[in-house]
Amino acid sequence: MDAADLARLKSALEAERDRLQHELGDLERESATNISETSGENNYRDHMADQGTATFGKELDMSLEDNVRELCESVTKALARIEDGTYGACLRCGKSIPVGRLGAMPAAELCIACKEWEESR
Ligand SMILES: [Zn+2]
Repeated sequence: MDAADLARLKSALEAERDRLQHELGDLERESATNISETSGENNYRDHMADQGTATFGKELDMSLEDNVRELCESVTKALARIEDGTYGACLRCGKSIPVGRLGAMPAAELCIACKEWEESR
């Protein structure tokens, strides 16, 4: 990987981090709104069907939020690896991850062989 590749991947990661942080901010605002709406519905507290639906919806929101937070963390970690010069090396075996794979997935932590090994476990 040359300096131009690294600069390109770094700006892709920075753009992705900004996008995810915005998305996370939106999701957090949304779930805060949902909580205040739910607490205002005291009259319906005994209505089991509605309660079940509300809980289900909230769980979906939480998993999406967790998912975005996880992505955001892996992008932030990739940027930290660029800073300390370890970016592009597989976290498991230490071999370089091909630039083509990083281009498609700049936050990749594992080479293809290790990724496949991890998924097959
Ligand atoms: Zn590897």
